[in-house]
Amino acid sequence: MTAQLTIALSKGRIYEETLPLLAASGITAIEDPVQSRKLIINTNHENIRLIIVRATDVPTYVQYGAADFGIAGKDVLIEHDGNGLYQPLNLNIARCRMMVAVRKGFDYVAASQPGCRLRVASKYPNIAAEHFAGKGVHVDLIKLYGSMELAPLVGLADAIVDLVSTGNTLQANNLHAVEHVVDISSQLVVNKAALKLKYAAIQPIIDVFAHARNQEI
Ligand code: AMP
Repeated sequence: MTAQLTIALSKGRIYEETLPLLAASGITAIEDPVQSRKLIINTNHENIRLIIVRATDVPTYVQYGAADFGIAGKDVLIEHDGNGLYQPLNLNIARCRMMVAVRKGFDYVAASQPGCRLRVASKYPNIAAEHFAGKGVHVDLIKLYGSMELAPLVGLADAIVDLVSTGNTLQANNLHAVEHVVDISSQLVVNKAALKLKYAAIQPIIDVFAHARNQEI
């Protein structure tokens, strides 16, 4: 009997950059989730389906076994502390950097001396807290869910900790990056129980992803 496989992906960059990896494994989606708005996307294999979830929810679906495996950014995985997740492979897709950014003209060097107190807005409070703790800077963390670039512009925060890819969003909002926090890329996450029970179905896909990734590097 062929094992049923459910793969959790988020829309956008991760989805687009995962399609070639799936294609290398002989898996193609039969619909585009953006066009169809469907959350369960069938593939050319009757036993394999994709589910479309928010990027931050991918580890949760995999952890609880609602998906056998998925692809999530390192940013999401560092913030999400969960058991039951096996992370066998860095796929090197959706690459970007987690950075500290401030309004142009803001004296970040003076404001971030050890012992100083800084107001920092981020969608990633754990990553931000660890970064500033390492520098000995006290921070008041403000959790936001999006449009973080706005926070320093309207006086909500002195600095933000956010993902930067091209730098265009910072530039368009009169901000600039002042510190590198961590390099980010997407990771394959596999439910530990599924890997044992469905090993014959999952391991060949992991192997093809690993091979495709190595060819990219
Ligand atoms: P950019 O203007 O290309 O530097 O992109 C910055 C915006 O895109 C910010 O709002 C980021 O939160 C978001 N962003 C950049 N890279 C990623 C990524 N790999 N995953 C999710 N969001 C991203």
